Amino acid sequence: MTSTVDRPLSGDDRAAMVRHTLEREVPGGIGICSGQQVHPGRGDRFPLHDPTSHALVTEWPDPGREGADLALAAAVEGFARWTALGPAGRADALRTAAQLVEARAGDLARLETLTTGKPLRDTTAELRAVVTMLKFYGGWAERINGETLGGAGSWHAYSLLQPFGVIVAVTPWNAPLLTAAANGLPALAAGNAVVVKPSEFTPASTIRFAQILHEAGLPLGAFVAAPGLGATVGAALTTDRRVGKVVFIGSVSTGRAVASASAAAGIPSILELGGKSANVVFADAGLDDAAAGALSAVFSGTGQSCQAGSRLLVQDSIRDKLLDRIVAGARVLRVGDPLDPETELGPIVHRAQYERVRELVALGVAEGARQLADLPLPAGIATGPMRTGNWCTPVLLDGVAADHSLEHTEVFGPVLAIDTFSDENEALARANGTEFGLASAVWTRDVARAHRFASAIQAGTCYVNCYKVGHPSAPFGGFKSSGWGRASGRGVVEEFTQSKAVWVATQRTAPAFPSLDRQR
Ligand code: NAD
Repeated sequence: MTSTVDRPLSGDDRAAMVRHTLEREVPGGIGICSGQQVHPGRGDRFPLHDPTSHALVTEWPDPGREGADLALAAAVEGFARWTALGPAGRADALRTAAQLVEARAGDLARLETLTTGKPLRDTTAELRAVVTMLKFYGGWAERINGETLGGAGSWHAYSLLQPFGVIVAVTPWNAPLLTAAANGLPALAAGNAVVVKPSEFTPASTIRFAQILHEAGLPLGAFVAAPGLGATVGAALTTDRRVGKVVFIGSVSTGRAVASASAAAGIPSILELGGKSANVVFADAGLDDAAAGALSAVFSGTGQSCQAGSRLLVQDSIRDKLLDRIVAGARVLRVGDPLDPETELGPIVHRAQYERVRELVALGVAEGARQLADLPLPAGIATGPMRTGNWCTPVLLDGVAADHSLEHTEVFGPVLAIDTFSDENEALARANGTEFGLASAVWTRDVARAHRFASAIQAGTCYVNCYKVGHPSAPFGGFKSSGWGRASGRGVVEEFTQSKAVWVATQRTAPAFPSLDRQR
């Protein structure tokens, strides 16, 4: 492993730097924000740690059920104001927001990096994606139309597509701003007000985003940041009858519990959950590209990505050649200070997740997988002040068989499970052999095989000779346990509006009861 750490700050100095950044970027503190002021809560205090050292940055109070109520009341009013702007006004506001976010992308990426530990190069790319989404959904806001319905006889019939009112999005800690934008913006474009509850581990950037959207012209309450604990703010938001739809992005177990509670309250949901995505390399693939693609598929974001290509299935005839390239590539990845633009892997976002990653690696080895390369932490981290952080170098586990735990368990960290297959049927069966179905990839020069595979794979996304490319025009979501519903692409229309049929009589219609006609 190479390091980008030269003279790291002590843990306390680093925590002070994160604290100062929070004070500058989110001066009102952590609390409910409907676009301007922040209303801090009064509940249990939740600690934020610096991921690079685990030093305590601050503690913030949970706004609790009272905070959820405040957020929803603001969003109900925000919906009326957002509606009053009309499609053109909403489009203008979202396009202005694209300019403001683009102008402040550097500060926002830095805030995200300091609070999540994700390398600046990752958060900078995420900010570019957020700007793309703001522009894209600014366009959609003016293009949501119903249809004129044919075959209606002596009626003129048409459909209207109307917003639900308030949409609640519950987001995870791995990409707070990206997930808030990816799920909040389509709902806004469709005319809804949105309440986003970020993870308790990473609440800051969503608050800042709410303030920038307001500055861009979104009225107060159109986009509300509602940080808080899942059991209090999250549970209250996702079961309140003022909410038209819930979008949950997170783990399978929490997602199912949230969807059940929402359904019991009569609220429909979209679930975007975890994955164990298969990256399948056939013998005819370009091996250099496949190796580089496999490494970035699993290790970008330090493996904390729902669509990480965390299972590598290699055709047996090229196993050695491909794995040699992958090991050599893993050795040169730059692990270090996430603020350094050269850094490629940072620490894990929070301590509990770091411990889970280590436990799952130990389980994989205990079940018979072999760690392919010993990749120690760079000396600058292992012996410096950052040694107490949540650091985890890339782990390549070879021989993870179909019945091993790591074939089926999402690690959500920099761990690649590797195994071989002999032919296309075996590759497909193996790729489809888990409960998940979020993403997948196939590397081959055989065009027919690529399309066969893309059609047969049970996953919401299939990449061919690439990984993790994307655009908001494409649907994104899961098959099987990876979720239901799609919050992007045409999902704007299908998921965030409800259709209404309007019937207009163009001739006098005969009454249902002939006696009424006889009376006239
Ligand atoms: P998590 O399920 O622990 O938490 C997600 C969110 O749910 C957090 O904001 C949390 O506070 C909230 N929550 C917890 N209990 C709740 C409750 N009872 N009611 C309402 N909200 C509640 O997930 P995580 O650890 O934050 O994130 C990691 C998971 O997210 C991984 O499984 C990953 O694959 C998944 N993820 C999926 C996508 C996707 O688009 N499919 C994107 C990113 C992350």
